[in-house]
Amino acid sequence: MDRMSWKDLEKAASGGYVLTLVVGSTEQHGPHLPLGVDVFIPMGIAERVAKNIKGIVAPPITYGYYSQPRSGGGQTFIGTTSVSSSCLLSLITDIMTEFLRHGFRKFLIINGHFENMPIISEGVEKALDPTNRSHVKVLILNYWDLITEDVIEKVFHKDFPGWDVEHASIAETSMMMLLRPDIVQMDKATDDMAQRRLRYDVIPPPKEILTKSGVLWKATLASREKGQLLLDTAVREIVAAVKRDLL
Ligand code: ZN
Ligand code: MN
Repeated sequence: MDRMSWKDLEKAASGGYVLTLVVGSTEQHGPHLPLGVDVFIPMGIAERVAKNIKGIVAPPITYGYYSQPRSGGGQTFIGTTSVSSSCLLSLITDIMTEFLRHGFRKFLIINGHFENMPIISEGVEKALDPTNRSHVKVLILNYWDLITEDVIEKVFHKDFPGWDVEHASIAETSMMMLLRPDIVQMDKATDDMAQRRLRYDVIPPPKEILTKSGVLWKATLASREKGQLLLDTAVREIVAAVKRDLL
């Protein structure tokens, strides 16, 4: 979208194009990955999806909701730069309102940061009103939720820790090796795990539920092949979902 003129965008909006918005974060991803992982991966997916449908990719939202100790390592790390729910909510509502004004009616929102999800749904709801609700369609997804069971089995074998803990670990590292090898430092990749894994939150978080490295699972088992498999699966499944429920 940011490479198009307003005249070209106007034509696309009225021509039934799907507008894709990526919502990510600026967040630590261990010593081996850059802070922009939660944007780079869904943008890589979004660009590939757009080629398979009549799609346009909008500039992403590059800040996300507060990193949580159980899913992103928490807010104590240098570099993790988060915004409040009210800020993210307003941003999504305002941007969606503008997209609607441009004339777009079909939207795909790809989330790259675990903590953002319910805020995205609320932001979209707030941009819809009785006058536009009946002719607007929005598909909202976490890209990892579309990775199929057989691929999880192939990538993790019997060792899948859950997507919350899959932070800066096998999946994210593998996809980054494929998408942005120039900014992955595999020589610094490490495996890590919190001493205790809680099923509830404690504020302030006990030290034993955090990791020193910011990696929450195994990063050294990452590979380009796994990245390719995960990426191809996400793209294929998202294209299918768009064709099934958005077009
Ligand atoms: Zn991430
Ligand atoms: Mn994240």
